[in-house]
Amino acid sequence: MAEKKSHLVIGAGITGISAARRLADIGEQVLIIDKNNHIGGNCYDYFDSNGNYIQQYGPHIFHTSNKKVWHFLSRFTQWNDYRHKVVARVESNLLVVPFNLTSLKTAFDKDKSRYLETKLINRYGLEHSISILELKKDSDPDIKKLGQFVYEKIFLNYTVKQWDYKPDQIDPQVINRVPVMISYDNRYFRYDKYQGIPKKGFSKMFDNMLNHPCIEIMLETDLKDVLSFNSYKNIIATSPIDEFFDYKLGALQYRKIYLDTKQHNCRSYQENSVINYPNDHNYTRITEYNKFLFIENNSTVVSKEYASWSKGFVAYPVFTDKNINLKNEYLKLAEKQKKLPLFFAGRLAEFKYYNMDNACERALKLVDNEINR
Ligand code: UDP
Repeated sequence: MAEKKSHLVIGAGITGISAARRLADIGEQVLIIDKNNHIGGNCYDYFDSNGNYIQQYGPHIFHTSNKKVWHFLSRFTQWNDYRHKVVARVESNLLVVPFNLTSLKTAFDKDKSRYLETKLINRYGLEHSISILELKKDSDPDIKKLGQFVYEKIFLNYTVKQWDYKPDQIDPQVINRVPVMISYDNRYFRYDKYQGIPKKGFSKMFDNMLNHPCIEIMLETDLKDVLSFNSYKNIIATSPIDEFFDYKLGALQYRKIYLDTKQHNCRSYQENSVINYPNDHNYTRITEYNKFLFIENNSTVVSKEYASWSKGFVAYPVFTDKNINLKNEYLKLAEKQKKLPLFFAGRLAEFKYYNMDNACERALKLVDNEINR
């Protein structure tokens, strides 16, 4: 057991590990626990005995515009210069996602794509982005028709598979993560200055972050094994907030993911690291992990990704009004917990669609602004 009066961090994913390291850096003792038998949460990755790279919980690519976050994490890893691109298999074509001027050229013949390109540039301006939900309502009939094409071919069925709801039935922030781009820049995260995959993987980076004399880590440990409210300076919970309170107000809805991961005895399985399947097949996307680290082997490991309400691991908060209200009720419950400070941070605990950089930023701010005031 950790010494008395350490901080307790529940969950050794990117939020928990970032918070733990930030606390350790200012001389605070931290006990970090995780119910899994590995660190890294859903960012956990590893190399198999053939030297193939695998991200156990599906594709994770680090990208940020936040200099502070980038410099903080860069203390613990070197990054490669991988720049994420996504393509979607639409009939016989591979269309760049987010749909952009390159996709337009692939999807339509020369005359039609030129005509639409000019219209789009005149209407929105080169290098601008537009939500698909707006594009399909455009007052120009040609642009509207294009919007409907993109909506149907790229968004509709993918979103139904991913969320079990149509794009206009879910919170627009989800769909608007992938706007239509009036650009030939094919990068998925074109607005983020800093991007890459840790050269030795995310798990190694997390290992380095936890390697500090003030940090004790306990894996395969349940909250109930360590929770005694008087023993800690405060608690930072990064696990689902409803689970923390034993679901006493009811269960929040998280969309789950399961993966069918297999090795293939070939040097390259597909044309791109990630290929989305908006229309065909029950899976949403196929990821070939070696491509993230530019590994060329005689074999390669590939995951087909499926979304579900019941099967797999908890991955995405579902933003319905009911869920948001319930989350807020849980937060009120947390405020009433007066015995010691209790903080919720991260995608599952705060019920927010955080990317990795948002999760790290949240952890750093929590320690800097709320705990170490
Ligand atoms: N989306 C889609 N088709 C695509 C890619 C994304 O319909 O080819 C929608 C889908 O609803 C998805 C959302 O946009 O859940 C956000 O996509 P993003 O790539 O950000 O999802 P993540 O990588 O976080 O799963």
